[in-house]
Amino acid sequence: MEPMENYEELLNKAYTEVKEVTHSGERFKMIEVKIEITGNKTVICNFIQILSHIRRKSDELCKFLSKELATQCKTDGERLILNRKIPSQKVNEKINLYVTKFVICKECKKPDTKILKEGPVSFTHCLACGAKHALGKI
Ligand SMILES: [Zn+2]
Repeated sequence: MEPMENYEELLNKAYTEVKEVTHSGERFKMIEVKIEITGNKTVICNFIQILSHIRRKSDELCKFLSKELATQCKTDGERLILNRKIPSQKVNEKINLYVTKFVICKECKKPDTKILKEGPVSFTHCLACGAKHALGKI
C-alpha cells in the first residue's frame, strides 16, 4: 500500500489552493455601464449597481460626473439622469477615469479605498495595503 500523504502536506496543499482562488477573486473588474439616451437626456440605467460595485456614495460620483461632463445630474431610483445628450463612450470614459483616480489603489490595484479629507486636501486611503495618495482639492 502507498503511504498516505501526511496531514501537514494536505493542509499546505489546501491552503495554497484557497490562496490562489482568493487572489484571483480579488482582482477588480469594472462592470458594464448601461447608458440610454432619452430625448435630450442621458440616463445611466444601472447607477446604483455601479455605486455598490465601487463602494462609493451617490453624491461623490454625481458631483464628479456633473463637473466633468458639464451638466446637472440627479438620481432617479436606480438611475442617474444627466441633463443633456452625451455619447455613451464619453460617459464610460469619465466613469473609468473616476474609478482609476478615486477608487483603485495605485499601490496594490485593489478597490478597497476610502476618501479621507485633511483640511482642504483629499486622499485615497487603501484599506488593503494602507497606502495614501493625495488627490488635491476635490
Ligand atoms: Zn492598496
